[in-house]
Amino acid sequence: MRGTMVECIECGAQIELSEPEQGEIVDCPECGTELEVIQDNPVVLQFAPQEEEDWGE
Ligand SMILES: [Zn+2]
Repeated sequence: MRGTMVECIECGAQIELSEPEQGEIVDCPECGTELEVIQDNPVVLQFAPQEEEDWGE
């Protein structure tokens, strides 16, 4: 099975996506940035929206 290599838009690391899907959120293994797949063929990434999680305090 062949994955798709994409480049992290934060640090430039190569990330392999086995089955990229539009709307998928991936974490860069190098810098931990959350990236959203906004287009799947070819794959285009953008920074995932940073939602302030309220951890219930
Ligand atoms: Zn990165």
